[in-house]
Amino acid sequence: MTENFLLQEMGALPQAVRFVEQAQTEIESILGGFSKTAEYNAYKVLEAFRSTNVAARHFAPSTGYGYSDEGREKLAALFARIFRTETAIVSPLIASGTHAISIALFGLLRPLDTMLCVSGTPYDTLHSVIGLENEQGSGSLADYAIKYQQVDLLPAGQIDIQRTLDYLRLNKSIRMVYLQRSRGYAWRNSLGIRQIQELAEAVKQRHPQVYVVVDNCYGEFTEPLEPTEVGVDLIVGSLIKNPGGGLAPTGAYLAGTAECIDKCAARLTCAGIGTEVGSYLAGYLPYFQGIYLAPQAVGNALKGAALTAYVFQKLGYQTSPAYNQPRTDITQAVRLHNEEELLALVRAVQKASPVDSNVVPYPWDMPGYQHQVIMAAGTFIQGGSLELSADAPLREPYIAYMQGGLTFENVKLALMLALSDMNCKLE
Ligand SMILES: *Cc1c(COP(=O)(O)O)cnc(C)c1O
Repeated sequence: MTENFLLQEMGALPQAVRFVEQAQTEIESILGGFSKTAEYNAYKVLEAFRSTNVAARHFAPSTGYGYSDEGREKLAALFARIFRTETAIVSPLIASGTHAISIALFGLLRPLDTMLCVSGTPYDTLHSVIGLENEQGSGSLADYAIKYQQVDLLPAGQIDIQRTLDYLRLNKSIRMVYLQRSRGYAWRNSLGIRQIQELAEAVKQRHPQVYVVVDNCYGEFTEPLEPTEVGVDLIVGSLIKNPGGGLAPTGAYLAGTAECIDKCAARLTCAGIGTEVGSYLAGYLPYFQGIYLAPQAVGNALKGAALTAYVFQKLGYQTSPAYNQPRTDITQAVRLHNEEELLALVRAVQKASPVDSNVVPYPWDMPGYQHQVIMAAGTFIQGGSLELSADAPLREPYIAYMQGGLTFENVKLALMLALSDMNCKLE
């Protein structure tokens, strides 16, 4: 077959190709489930394009202050409709997901307030924003006398709602209950929408003045419902992840109640001006196209992640989540046996990528990490992680975190190359 010839030319051994193909047929029904979710979310997105009347003029660039920039306003209305919120901010001027979360934290919290994180240790880059190491003068929340408390997840990985309510009863300064939907880069489960709903309802029922905020990074479109549809006040996420569809070149969004978004807008630019300004000379076309394609791209990434889990489980490796567990984020952790296997897997991801496929990744001393880290990122958008990518700290246990894949075929190719290079026994 010419297809096999092509795959072999790219370095896939015939037994690796057969193994991955066979694995795919064995989990056909699981993969089909992701198609159903993607289909539902595609309708949801199309409905929003229709009901907000997106038109070609909204793709036009703007300059200067960007007063009455129709593209900026329409994009916000579109996201608000998709996430069923009163309003939203969608902006190329927000530099990253961390920046957007920082805007939400500083926007909603005031000195002497407490932020209560109920999903255990938050994402790495937020430690400095919160001021967990309490470094004076760094500009963290702690620097502004905003306090932080944490409720860990229960041993089975769920939110400890009872403890959360205890904290709220005892500490009247808690102004925000915060949680991270995705596992991020930790060996834990991502949180499902029903749990998020249970938490939000329990908190809002007793403490309506407390904001419930969700770090939605990696979670968008993995389920039919988003946190803002089940009682959450504000969600925040990056546009070089799920909702950018692989096309948005930079930026982030916040979607929520008018009260929350107004406060965040005052922080994004300044008090009194909020979202009245903000121009973008490059135009908004890739943002509209990106959110339009996002449900399918997320579906492809989920299929790739499930196939990755299944292939490695068949070969005796531990994975998180397991291939047949529910998925509410796009990351997939695989625990390898040793450093050689880890390097081979990450390098195979790079080899299978559309960009910089000839580059061989090496471990390096990444700022802020105690161990060397190796990364594969042959992506069109720098750091874009709805695109196929892999990261791994070089230490025991040897865990590779993989995510993304705008196309399912790209993930399949990476798996075929990985199995070929890892000297796995495949027959
Ligand atoms: C990516 C991510 C963030 C923000 O990361 P940036 O690299 O700053 O965009 C925050 N939380 C989670 C769970 C993430 O996956």
